Amino acid sequence: MAALDRHRSRALIANGPPSPRPSPRPGRRAKLRSMRYISTRGQAPAGDFPAVLLAGLAEDGGLFVPETWPHFGPADWRAMRSLPYHALAARVMQPFVGEAISFEILEKICHDAYAGFGHPAVAPLIQLDSHLFTQELFHGPTLAFKDLAMQVLGRLFDHVLTQRDARVTIVGATSGDTGAAAIEAFAGRERVDIVILHPHERTSLVQRRQMTTVHAPNVGNIALEGTFDDCQDMVKAMFGDVPFRNEVHLSAVNSINWARIAAQIPYYVAAALALGAPEREVAFSVPTGNFGNILAAWAARRMGLPVARLIVGSNRNDILHRFLDKNDMSMKPVEPSLSPSMDIQISSNFERLLFELMERDPAALTRTMQAFRETGRMPISDAVWHRARGVLHSFRLDDAGTEAEIRRLHAATGYLADPHTIVGIAAARTQAPGHGIPTVAMATAHPAKFPDAMERATGQRPALPPRMADLFEREERFDVMPNDLAAVQAKVRALVGRN
Ligand SMILES: *Cc1c(COP(=O)(O)O)cnc(C)c1O
Repeated sequence: MAALDRHRSRALIANGPPSPRPSPRPGRRAKLRSMRYISTRGQAPAGDFPAVLLAGLAEDGGLFVPETWPHFGPADWRAMRSLPYHALAARVMQPFVGEAISFEILEKICHDAYAGFGHPAVAPLIQLDSHLFTQELFHGPTLAFKDLAMQVLGRLFDHVLTQRDARVTIVGATSGDTGAAAIEAFAGRERVDIVILHPHERTSLVQRRQMTTVHAPNVGNIALEGTFDDCQDMVKAMFGDVPFRNEVHLSAVNSINWARIAAQIPYYVAAALALGAPEREVAFSVPTGNFGNILAAWAARRMGLPVARLIVGSNRNDILHRFLDKNDMSMKPVEPSLSPSMDIQISSNFERLLFELMERDPAALTRTMQAFRETGRMPISDAVWHRARGVLHSFRLDDAGTEAEIRRLHAATGYLADPHTIVGIAAARTQAPGHGIPTVAMATAHPAKFPDAMERATGQRPALPPRMADLFEREERFDVMPNDLAAVQAKVRALVGRN
């Protein structure tokens, strides 16, 4: 246990001889040094975990990354094999949290976060072929992988805000999955109000109902008369209004929040250990949008997990595939697809990987990001591109291919993969490393979230899990509002004033 042991020996030197019965739990063994986070752009002050949790984006517009990567050795991984998911998650996250939160509390937070999941294994592995597996990340309350991080985040916010005797108001814009997962995670939390904007009559029914049927006094749903971009602009305008931002203590939980990445690393560890790590290598295939999920896989590898290859799955919005294929990282307009959570123009978390590939040179990274914004094309050197290709492979699947692959997998195995998951499975089929290395494709959403696409491809309409079967009978609560900043701000104030 390289990192932890170093801290322990330091603590022992400071505190005298070792106690006769050292506890096996790292939190009791020694106080961990506080993990510091630096900005990829190099101009913002470093912060500890609670600061980074509450801030989201760094002040200089960069993304927070750990100052040093924690490292686990083979014995550390082996010791995690026997743990239930929540305990494994706490172990993996602990070096990132540092001394800010005790191990006991972190473990309790993880326990509570996953207690309500619909599968006892939390993130079960399903075998599809001799070396192809899928890991189901959709057993949380909103049936998408974002629950795995968001359920932890809601509890971390409450804990840190209680320590600081503070409150925040989270505002966010959503086209579907993120807003639902955030509302489920923050509903009923004592120190947080949450307001989510969605474009009126432009989200799927399941997604809207997942947000609007949660009845808690600290939750507000606004159906904005406009598009998803209007919703995003409205959120930006609220953050840009500094007096308002300070008045209601605005905060965000979008996908660049480091704590979300940290909470996504454990399921990669769990899958790899189940398939024979650390003695055996594995590969991961991830249907990718903002690059948060696959970045967590990269982080697991960086921490010492034996990951042979990472595979990026893209839909027709294929900027990442074009980059990996021919070093063409150029923006194109977003086109709607069957996998809407992957419809992106820019993958914001890619900046974190690029920072590492550029050997942590914040000045060079800042120049690259500025050029991208000004020209729509990211100038990446061949050396950096080759470094990326050393780990990452990619695959693109358009809508016709998505339907065909859903049908093919269902005919061959009986398994129903949603339109996001199938992109990862198809990518794994073509890009797997071979040599008997198992490849795990991440199942990011339950097929019942996309009943129309599933029915077209397979003739079957997947049913919602029993615990959600009454979703369409529940009462909805939301306010339809004009695209008007003052009106939306008044609504947010009213909600905050109530609590
Ligand atoms: C958010 C989401 C993705 C994309 O994940 P990123 O971390 O943004 O790359 C893929 N599939 C589903 C179902 C999602 O909700």
